Amino acid sequence: MQANIVTIPGDGIGVDVVAEGVKVLQAVAAKFGHTFTFENHLIGGCAIDATGEPLPASTLDACKRADAVLLGAVGGPKWDDPTARVRPEQGLLALRKGLALYANLRPVQVFAELRDASPLRPERLEGVDLVVVRELTGGLYFGPRKEATSDNMTAYDTMLYADYEVERIARKAFELARLRRKKVTSVDKANVLSSSRLWRRVVTAVAADYPDVALEHMLVDSAAMHLMRRPADFDVIVTENMFGDILTDEASMLSGSMGMLASASLGEGTNGVYEPIHGSAPDIAGKGIANPLATILSVAMLLRYSFGLGKEADAVEKAVADVIAAGYRTRDIYTEGMKLVNTQEMGDVVCQAL
Ligand code: NAD
Repeated sequence: MQANIVTIPGDGIGVDVVAEGVKVLQAVAAKFGHTFTFENHLIGGCAIDATGEPLPASTLDACKRADAVLLGAVGGPKWDDPTARVRPEQGLLALRKGLALYANLRPVQVFAELRDASPLRPERLEGVDLVVVRELTGGLYFGPRKEATSDNMTAYDTMLYADYEVERIARKAFELARLRRKKVTSVDKANVLSSSRLWRRVVTAVAADYPDVALEHMLVDSAAMHLMRRPADFDVIVTENMFGDILTDEASMLSGSMGMLASASLGEGTNGVYEPIHGSAPDIAGKGIANPLATILSVAMLLRYSFGLGKEADAVEKAVADVIAAGYRTRDIYTEGMKLVNTQEMGDVVCQAL
């Protein structure tokens, strides 16, 4: 197939890891006879420096025209001033909203060889294979808000949901569960929040269309605890925007590092934004030691969900599993006796395995 992929590396280690993702896409194109063209654009802090805006119109336009988008990460100490008119994260939110990507899929798998890299006891990690389906364009990050000004010391954000927003994300979760172990855990805070009671009512109604899928409701505080206590019991978790943001960082520790978790942000069409769940990691930026596997696993999701190339996606995932089995480790997942590699070397061994 022929496809146009827009790359937006962003800031910090985003630049390093997207370069490895592109390398893997080129290897896939060569191996399977596809033609992928790449267009590079700005987002985040580097875009603010160059244009004054975290999401320049040219970036959003290119993403709208693309067949798929591969993103790195945004942010860093240089742009951390809370009083600034524009901030890097606004670029991400505007991109998701601009492309109407309301569903964020974050798979959490544990490679057997990496169990020692997790702070959890290895036996707790047996059989962990879950996906968090996070609502991405509503809830607390998008509701009416008010900044505190110097003469007025109140500020607020609003967790606002309409029933159709809950319904469409719930359907994504149930459809996905049908392809997996047929269990959905809907996470909310219905004992306190009105928006969560709406969430629970709508998810329960949607469940009636999926009698073959089991549904359980769980409060978010309880879910945070059970993710550590019995993570293997989860299959598909569907939840509100901020709850999903927090729970997936927590879940990343099951796989040992933020550098291992991929994500896909999808809407109604086939275009999507694929990115690692980690940030720009200023503490290791520019050192060439970032783990590119989360981005490479995001490339696999891109091939599967935007291009319908399941065989190619499987091949990328197998290549990642193979290099881990062969003992290659970036510093974040390194344990004694393994082969320590830098970002580029990890990309190279994945391409060789492919
Ligand atoms: P972070 O995810 O950047 O880093 C957290 C920790 O994980 C750091 O110790 C980092 O070194 C490590 N880490 C992350 N990715 C790694 C990788 N691929 N390989 C090895 N180690 C890795 O989170 P943070 O430090 O809280 O945030 C840093 C900046 O990133 C902030 O400006 C924040 O706003 C931004 N951020 C952006 C995104 C995004 O672009 N989607 C997400 C989260 C945070």
